[in-house]
Amino acid sequence: MNDNNSGKGLSFVRRIYLPRIIGLGIGMFSVMAALAPLKPATWLWALLLFNGLAWPHLAYLWARRSATPYMAEQRNLLLDSLMGGFWTAAFHFNPLPSVTILSMMTMNNVAAGGKRLVWRGMLAQLAGMLLAVLGLDPGLQLLATPLQVYACLPMLTLYPLALGWVCYRLAIKLAEHKRRLSDLSRTDSLTSLLNHGSWKDLLQLRFQACRQHQASAVIALIDIDHFKTINDTFGHVVGDCVLRQLSQELKRTLREHDLAGRYGGDEFCVILPDTDQAQACHAMERLRECVGAYRNPQLPALRITLSIGLAPFTADLKSPERWLEEADKALYAAKRQGRDQVNFAQDGAATLKLAYPD
Ligand code: GH3
Ligand code: MG
Repeated sequence: MNDNNSGKGLSFVRRIYLPRIIGLGIGMFSVMAALAPLKPATWLWALLLFNGLAWPHLAYLWARRSATPYMAEQRNLLLDSLMGGFWTAAFHFNPLPSVTILSMMTMNNVAAGGKRLVWRGMLAQLAGMLLAVLGLDPGLQLLATPLQVYACLPMLTLYPLALGWVCYRLAIKLAEHKRRLSDLSRTDSLTSLLNHGSWKDLLQLRFQACRQHQASAVIALIDIDHFKTINDTFGHVVGDCVLRQLSQELKRTLREHDLAGRYGGDEFCVILPDTDQAQACHAMERLRECVGAYRNPQLPALRITLSIGLAPFTADLKSPERWLEEADKALYAAKRQGRDQVNFAQDGAATLKLAYPD
């Protein structure tokens, strides 16, 4: 897993910062309450204050300045575990503060690094205990005073809250990323219309809906006439602008629930739900006229005309592919008959040119 790249690593470091401030800050009180009756040396108090108050900030800066923040943060988490183990042995394994500190730390390690960090964290906790057993007076204190119980309560209540909040925010962020990726995978990058695949998925759905509910719908295939010549004459950048212009015109002239996509190259596709032949012809004529009237002052010679093939849903259509074929035939006929026109598939043969006065 390549998590060492600093962008990802830095967000990991930032995510851990606040839970560490809260966890070590309030965890310090449970350690203090458990340690006090043992009359520890001054340096141990100083170490506890450093661990509870200064270390979270130092760890943050240390990881941020590292060339590999993700790895540095893993090291910091292991140091947290080491110190957790150290404190439990230092206050002679007093059960409640020990369980509080070790279990909260393990929960943190699960959330931050999964199984691997849990195991490594446990080893670090054991190493910390060993360090304290060897360096301090070893002992066992199995009874907790009421003060020690109360001192553990903030940790037991606030820390899961803080960690849960961080995990929740992360889940929301992930869901947002997923939604954006899904949108991107359904969209044509040049025109922001539906791409070929997602439009065909919707065609399938609409086909089934028409069959089940005897609803009406018309599909349109729209192709720019002599687009290759436009590219050759004005360049591909202008060609791209023409494609975008047409997609904007589609968005502007169609109804909200009409589904427009880029079928590929200079070909566009539209599903017009709950629409009859006359309404579809009217809508497509309007589009053809709008696009035909487009003029660009910088390119006065540029003309854009469209050939459009329409096919209504009929009960005898066997599949969405057959429906599409009908529209394709109508488009092909429109091209053959001189382009710049709207044609309707009628029993796969006859076509009609419709002109609507304003
Ligand atoms: P017709 O009137 O028969 O449709 O002729 P045409 O020239 O429009 O058709 P043809 O299929 O020969 O040309 C389509 C051209 O569209 C060829 C291809 O280079 C161009 N094209 C496809 N995708 C893009 C694109 O994303 N941007 C640009 N600028 N051109 C594209
Ligand atoms: Mg074309």
